[in-house]
Amino acid sequence: MSDAEQPRSEDDFEPVQVFPEAEEMDLRPGADNCYKCTTCDSVCPVAEVDDEFPGPKFQGPEQWRLKRKGDEDIDPSVMSCSNCMRCDNACPSSVPLSQMHNAARGEYVEAQMDTLSREYVRNRVLANYRTMAELGSKVPRLTNFVMGLGVTKLFNEKVLGITSKRDFPEFAEQTFREWWEERGGAAASKKRAREARAERGDDTTSDEKRVAYFHGCYSNYNTPEVGKALVRVFESFGYEVVVPRQRCSGTPMFANGMLKDAERAAGVNAERFSGLIEEGYDVVASCTSCSMSLRQEYPELFSMDGVEDLSNHTYEAMEYLRIHEDLEGALEEASVSDRSYAYHAPCHARNQGLDRQAVELFRDLDGVTIEDVGPSCSGISGTYGWKAEKYDTSMAIGEEMFEHMEHAAGEVGMTECPTCSMQMEHGTGYEIRHPLQVLEEALT
Ligand code: SF4
Ligand code: SF4
Repeated sequence: MSDAEQPRSEDDFEPVQVFPEAEEMDLRPGADNCYKCTTCDSVCPVAEVDDEFPGPKFQGPEQWRLKRKGDEDIDPSVMSCSNCMRCDNACPSSVPLSQMHNAARGEYVEAQMDTLSREYVRNRVLANYRTMAELGSKVPRLTNFVMGLGVTKLFNEKVLGITSKRDFPEFAEQTFREWWEERGGAAASKKRAREARAERGDDTTSDEKRVAYFHGCYSNYNTPEVGKALVRVFESFGYEVVVPRQRCSGTPMFANGMLKDAERAAGVNAERFSGLIEEGYDVVASCTSCSMSLRQEYPELFSMDGVEDLSNHTYEAMEYLRIHEDLEGALEEASVSDRSYAYHAPCHARNQGLDRQAVELFRDLDGVTIEDVGPSCSGISGTYGWKAEKYDTSMAIGEEMFEHMEHAAGEVGMTECPTCSMQMEHGTGYEIRHPLQVLEEALT
């Protein structure tokens, strides 16, 4: 047994600050819990298709051990982890793997990456999708036209390293927030919710039924129909909805090691939402990666005010309704136009224990046939599959899901994650819907 593998007692432990930029983040106890069973490696979708990728055990506990022995640099392979977080759930010893990966990636970008390199510039652009989307959605038709041109795709691939093999997602002609304001904002929602409660004979008040919607970037700029569905479904159960100004949840920033950008975004979100939480609102998200970020990554990585409250009061939208309402009962009486769905549970939904939710909800809904296409990862993992050098890996990971979708009875896909939805559409050509859109059709 080598020195590094000798069991250590608490007493001969020499404390070393591994991540000097984050003094609060001491991951030593978690790292020492690793007993090298390699379960995490066996579930890693990247390691399964990429022989060069050393896997989560190396990225987490082993990098830590190397750092503890000497002042080793972070291994660049941490940038090949897609941040799917499947290794977190797999570890029987509660090693905080994704937290370690996020911290290591942050340190790598901060200390070892050349900020003038093409990789850094590309990753920064992808991680800050919201900034690009804010500009692009001011003139959506023009942006969609330009982004669809072959010359733009070629430029993106050759200059930035963004794959030309994918079609850039189209911006909606009206953002979710524009629709929300035009409809009358929170005042209109309060009125609609009151009317719905009266119709249902529900004697609760708006103080008891109110939620703050975290729409994230994609529902705002690209698929406002998902946000609209959430608002209408919650109002139909008598909930007043508010939509505070917000920033990106930080998901693409964590995945690209842009922790300073993520911290700024988290600070704004924590401040805006924690005030509402104090007033009695819970927070609901339509994207499972956004809810994951607010619930798990914020408190793991940042110690700012409001983060704990936000983590404790955030729910995925359907999860919230299942806890507080008789959603199954409401669907018993409902029906929708006949459709068969091939459902994919995003990795981040699995991490929150939500992977069976859509199937359990819709399997008895009149008009719906739904089939779970299995536990595999879609492979796109947010910005990962948009990187030219990761495209083939992303598609190789997605292959199992594509095959299962094609064998499923349905020819419409369903998922809660916007980038899984892009990958499903890209790999099969299917139309993809969010479960909230089916709920809206059934209940309103
Ligand atoms: S699953 Fe946990 S205990 Fe097993 S090798 Fe991975 S980190 Fe270590
Ligand atoms: S987060 Fe996903 S890609 Fe990264 S090491 Fe864990 S399982 Fe592998």
